[in-house]
Amino acid sequence: MSDSKDQPILVTGGAGYIGSHTVRLLAAQGRRIVVLDNLVFGHERAIVDPGVELVVGDVGDQVLLRTLFETHRFGAVIHFAAFAYVGESVTDPLKYYQNNTAEPIKLLQVMEEAGCKVFVFSSTCATYGIPEKLPITEDTPQSPINPYGRSKLMVEWILKDCGQAWGLRSACLRYFNASGSSDDGKIGEDHDPETHLIPRVLMAVTGEIPHIEVFGTDYKTPDGTCIRDYIHVEDLAEAHARALDHLAAGGESLRCNLGTGVGVSVKQIIAAVEEVTGREVPVKFGPRREGDPDSLVADPSLARNLLGWEARHKDVRDMVRPAWAWVNGPFKGRFPANELR
Ligand code: UDP
Repeated sequence: MSDSKDQPILVTGGAGYIGSHTVRLLAAQGRRIVVLDNLVFGHERAIVDPGVELVVGDVGDQVLLRTLFETHRFGAVIHFAAFAYVGESVTDPLKYYQNNTAEPIKLLQVMEEAGCKVFVFSSTCATYGIPEKLPITEDTPQSPINPYGRSKLMVEWILKDCGQAWGLRSACLRYFNASGSSDDGKIGEDHDPETHLIPRVLMAVTGEIPHIEVFGTDYKTPDGTCIRDYIHVEDLAEAHARALDHLAAGGESLRCNLGTGVGVSVKQIIAAVEEVTGREVPVKFGPRREGDPDSLVADPSLARNLLGWEARHKDVRDMVRPAWAWVNGPFKGRFPANELR
């Protein structure tokens, strides 16, 4: 089967945070999309486009997958469905290797049978572990420090091997810190539990939690708090659309970082939240969280060279602003409960 832009696309995990923003963009571009999501973490209401079909099921359900491939003849798959709690991956590694590594193998088997040879993969900067040099280029050795990062890196290797064996062409997109939400406030970030910095700082502002705890103030950074590269979720969505176009046009497999190239500290995030919300953030300074590297900042130049992609939002206030609008929007930052499951 050839992969043309007109063929439908299967998006696993399309009801999740990054998945739903990507689905929305692809649908707006007129692409036909089928979302496969088991709604364990996904939200039915995160799929706003009526033309997008939502199939509730597991990525590893090969009977379901075969039926879907038979019916829709997908030209490409974007695979978001994964677990992403680093701490949990340390205490329950098999859950992560099963869900994040073994399940995609089952999906790839069905793709091989069906002759579908284009795969866009949600990878992560966690595959680099603790980098020796900054910014992080794609040539930085990948040496993940937790099962989550390893579960993703293994899929990168598998994709490479499938490329050699049966011509799969893949894009491994290594996200830095996804943040923000749609600029119109219709969809946004809703994790349960929520562990990420920006939504938690906003929870401290609204009083949902008593304060934000800053994990460590003795890092080797100018203000002592960890530095990360926060990338707007709509910029991530755009990179997926471009990766699809690149592969659909016959482009070669690629792996690239998706970040802004700008490092922002925890204290700077708190200051940005105070500026955007006009309120003081209650803060408590605590000990380090295990496994946090001092600084993770992307060199995003390869994505620019290969895909013509560059983050449009580089100022972290442009990510905090829609996240704050989402918290104050009609859903108050939480999607209504799923009905389909
Ligand atoms: N962080 C923090 N307090 C929190 C949550 C996060 O100080 O309640 C810090 C965390 O240590 C890290 C940064 O904020 O340095 C970003 O953490 P997050 O969990 O959002 O993303 P990660 O970088 O772990 O993927």
